[in-house]
Amino acid sequence: MPDDAAVERELFEVGRRLAAAMPTTRNPLKVFDDKAMDLASSDAELKAALFRFVDVVPACRNLDDLARHLTGFLSEVGDPPPPISVAMRMGDSKAGRRALGMAASQGVKHMARRFIVGEDPKAALGDLKDLWKDGVAASVDLLGEATVTQSEAQRYADRCADALDTLAAAAASWPGRRQLERDSVGVLPRSNLSVKVSALTPLLRPDAPERGKRDAADRLRPLLRRAHERGAHLHIDMESMDSRDAILELILELLGEEEFRRGPSAGMVLQGYLRDSPQTLDTILEWSSRVERTHPLTIRLVKGAYWDHELVEAAQHGWTAPVFEVKADTDANFEHLTRRLLDARPLVRVAIASHNLRSVSHAIAYNRLGGGADSDLELQVLRGLGDPLQTAIAAQGLRVRAYCPVGDLVAGMAYLVRRLLENTSNESFLYEQARGVPLEVLLAPPQGTVAHRT
Ligand SMILES: Cc1cc2nc3c(=O)[nH]c(=O)nc-3n(C[C@H](O)[C@H](O)[C@H](O)COP(=O)(O)OP(=O)(O)OC[C@H]3O[C@@H](n4cnc5c(N)ncnc54)[C@H](O)[C@@H]3O)c2cc1C
Repeated sequence: MPDDAAVERELFEVGRRLAAAMPTTRNPLKVFDDKAMDLASSDAELKAALFRFVDVVPACRNLDDLARHLTGFLSEVGDPPPPISVAMRMGDSKAGRRALGMAASQGVKHMARRFIVGEDPKAALGDLKDLWKDGVAASVDLLGEATVTQSEAQRYADRCADALDTLAAAAASWPGRRQLERDSVGVLPRSNLSVKVSALTPLLRPDAPERGKRDAADRLRPLLRRAHERGAHLHIDMESMDSRDAILELILELLGEEEFRRGPSAGMVLQGYLRDSPQTLDTILEWSSRVERTHPLTIRLVKGAYWDHELVEAAQHGWTAPVFEVKADTDANFEHLTRRLLDARPLVRVAIASHNLRSVSHAIAYNRLGGGADSDLELQVLRGLGDPLQTAIAAQGLRVRAYCPVGDLVAGMAYLVRRLLENTSNESFLYEQARGVPLEVLLAPPQGTVAHRT
């Protein structure tokens, strides 16, 4: 096991090289986004107003309607900064509302396009091929979460099946990219789809998990079959805590079935912000050592996208929050889990999903010092948030995969709001990086308050 001081030295070198390889030329439109995000980050009331607005955009009937909603939400901001006062004054006349509605609609659509690759998988193929040629693999995510009817769930499952066909057919003609297609266990599928269990069933409820699991399994089995036939990888996302146990059990039960032991390549997500994530990893590793499969289970380690939701939910019920409440504790746990996952290979394949240069450099350094091959570690980023990091990782010849949401604006709103929340949080790594915090500070070890089991 590599010693901590050596890991720190190596990760600093890795981090320095990655930082130097990040493109500095910026798309001028992105600067606009960043300004809007800075504005939102500076004022909690304004942030809430803007997010409520983003949420209602798809439901607005026309530009006037859009402008009325925007000024309505903004009027709740106590001490509005100058650009917001200007927007409010525009809301006083019909012509002003039209102009404001137009600007707001363009702004939201533009922001959404930063995170969403296309309206459907076919429309996304051009971008996916360009990424692949640049040394970046993708996992496609069909937007549309938390279905409420059986027909919606079936529509989502049908869209997933079509996406598997479309991706596999297109990817077959892409040029060879060795670092994206092979690790020391074997071949890695070119096409990769991420799915959400809450979209596959309307019955996923914490008080009756078995019904939800059965219903989701009926739609997940055909998808696993289809992925196997097409030689594609199927990845199951993790959502909020109230569905965590059901999703974990569902995945392990299905992938343990005789039929699916031979394939497809499949994976799941471990959320490092959860206090009990080390125990979840125990369960996964115990299962992996017992259930022999042709393709080892891929574990995507993330911090977790539902942090605010988990805190609010716990407070409403008077429960202790299931998530860490100190950011450094999440970061330290993430590193602890990274090490355990890397040490557990070849029982599992490891994908470290983060935009935090320290978290990513730590994984690369620990892997190298432990004698692991670079090809046995995958790094993952979200489209629109991790673009410069993804370019830097690919330039080092490492395997990187971008998570690419596909869908229309209506379906994309929940996703967009989550990404905006992440991007405008004062504790987010990307926010600190954008503020110009020095590299030594960005790469410093997290000073967690919780001891981790080794
Ligand atoms: C490819 C990919 C796939 C993903 N799939 C999933 C998925 O299936 N399910 C899912 O939940 N998420 C998923 N995520 C989202 C991921 O959880 C977020 O991107 C991630 O939380 C941001 O972490 P970071 O390391 O990039 O940034 P950092 O800025 O280092 O970390 C931010 C994260 O730290 C945590 N945090 C923030 N404040 C605090 C605090 N005060 N105390 C404790 N913890 C705090 C939160 O988790 C927050 O998101 C995915 C991400 C990627 C890149």
